[in-house]
Amino acid sequence: MKHIVRLEEFRKQALKELQEAFQADSLEQWRILYLGSHGEVKALMQQLKDLPPADKPAFGKRANEIKQELTAAFKQRKEEVGEGRPGKKQVVDMTLPGTPVPIGHRHLITQTIEEIAEIFGRMGFNVAYGPEVEDEWHIFDALNMPAAHPARDPLDSFYITDSVILRSETSNVQIRVMESQAPPVRIISPGRVYRPDTVDATHSFMFHQVEGLYVDEGVSMVDLKTCLDQFCKAYFGPTVATRFRPHFFPFTEPSAEVDISCHLCPGDREDCPVCKGSGWIELGGCGMVDPNVLEAVGYDTEKYTGYAFGFGIERMVMRKYNIPDIRLLFENDVRFLRQF
Ligand SMILES: [Zn+2]
Repeated sequence: MKHIVRLEEFRKQALKELQEAFQADSLEQWRILYLGSHGEVKALMQQLKDLPPADKPAFGKRANEIKQELTAAFKQRKEEVGEGRPGKKQVVDMTLPGTPVPIGHRHLITQTIEEIAEIFGRMGFNVAYGPEVEDEWHIFDALNMPAAHPARDPLDSFYITDSVILRSETSNVQIRVMESQAPPVRIISPGRVYRPDTVDATHSFMFHQVEGLYVDEGVSMVDLKTCLDQFCKAYFGPTVATRFRPHFFPFTEPSAEVDISCHLCPGDREDCPVCKGSGWIELGGCGMVDPNVLEAVGYDTEKYTGYAFGFGIERMVMRKYNIPDIRLLFENDVRFLRQF
């Protein structure tokens, strides 16, 4: 019986190797190996004379069947493979390397948003998103900009109806997050914003912003300055200095504008294309959240304070990669995008 078992194993192996032959030459190699005049099948037949007499009939019969089966299987396989000639049925060679398909990569703005989220993530900030089409309450009223406020001028925002607006900053997300949870709140909100600006090298009617908000007990201006300085060093490099200039925003008090040091000059070149000789580049605005804003969302202003900040993402990208024109980021020219 053990001889018969060996025969079956032989048959299985031969058929398996036949199925793995995808081309005319590998098929021919298989034929020589198994069906050739010095092949395996021949060798099998020669074993017959050494077997015990009792085993000979069964072994001989089965060996002949296998020989016929392999011959027929070879014929069929050869037709399938078609000897590589066109017009015959082709078999796909699964072992050949594939043709590479270009898959592209994420846009520089997306990469930057992820990088910013990662840096602030290390400082304990979560990422929050909100609607780009927003009502007056979340864009203006709750942010300490009452009905007569100049920022509500239709020249400064895209109005969809009298009370529905395409957001001009992502601050609506701050309001929505504070409405939905009690302090502490520590979030950044990246996203698209829209303003009726004429498009030029540094302006666009649509761009990206990232805002941050931290509300808790005992949050101070020192925390704000530390946080932004740490962020700028992590994003732009450890040699970058930051500067805070007093400013005014309706939703923060006190408010400041954040500048970072020029990467091209120490402020002594009046022809510097980046800083125009001042040594500083404006990055964005920040400040301590106005108590009116915290009251609008029902926070206890006796107990909680907070800071907020907002940067233009395109401005950061242009500063970091020396991109001279904001339009390059939206034209989707792959020759430009491939560099990042
Ligand atoms: Zn400069």
